Amino acid sequence: MSARLTILASGSSGNCAYLETDDTRLLIDAGLSARQIRQRLLGIGRTPENLSGILITHEHSDHTQGLGVLAAKLQIPIYCNRLTKEAIEVQFKTRFEFRLFSTGASFELGDIGVDTFSVPHDAYDPVGFLLRTAAGNIGFLTDLGHATKLVIERVRPSHALVLEANHDVKMLQDDTRRPWSTKQRILSRHGHLSNDAAAQVAEQIVSAELRHLILGHLSSDCNRPNLARQVVSEALCRLGANHVLVEAASPDVPCPTLCLDRSVSPSPTAATGELQPMVQPQ
Ligand SMILES: [Zn+2]
Ligand SMILES: [Zn+2]
Repeated sequence: MSARLTILASGSSGNCAYLETDDTRLLIDAGLSARQIRQRLLGIGRTPENLSGILITHEHSDHTQGLGVLAAKLQIPIYCNRLTKEAIEVQFKTRFEFRLFSTGASFELGDIGVDTFSVPHDAYDPVGFLLRTAAGNIGFLTDLGHATKLVIERVRPSHALVLEANHDVKMLQDDTRRPWSTKQRILSRHGHLSNDAAAQVAEQIVSAELRHLILGHLSSDCNRPNLARQVVSEALCRLGANHVLVEAASPDVPCPTLCLDRSVSPSPTAATGELQPMVQPQ
């Protein structure tokens, strides 16, 4: 029993992750061009034709832009809530195969259990996910202005968590290219998590079972991967949580595939994660 997670891209320009278990192959968001998604899947020896489904967190184009070609042409089912579906239909004006869930509901997708929960973000009905596999739990928590109690509770069982660390507050405030209104939107309670806010989430959810924190949705000009990693790692070290590996995902190249493995016991403490560099970015 194993689960393999590859972040194909994460950043303000595009977000897409690939998760496969023994039975199921999913994309979480499709925020790259269909061509890029295909190329990056091919880079790990996979192809979009074999996808079981695409989970969508919300309708913003950095999470959906590949759907038009990918999902419609290949007839891959899109899993999202009703308001997100309606927004996607307006965006693409094409026929998709949707499987709707209610925000807050849990459902099975092949051998993966999907828990959905609401996140505070400026979209119609944005959600985060906790994906429960036999090999361990993987949380997705990006695109939120602040972490509510509910959000913290829902991702706490994660063995691996993709966590937004969008910006450094000072770099964003000093940025001269963004208008004031945009900065206000990003910094608002329905915007994006800063590095410091990500560190606070990490402090609140850290457990013996959490092994991997993958920082995502980094702003390309108001953040630096090393800075984001440093802020979150230092917060965890202050708590003595040195067992958590903190990495930052990139918008440009896929992360090395994370392989969660639970070979014998179903006890949550038996889950271990190893980084297996099966991705060879060309
Ligand atoms: Zn986004
Ligand atoms: Zn968004």
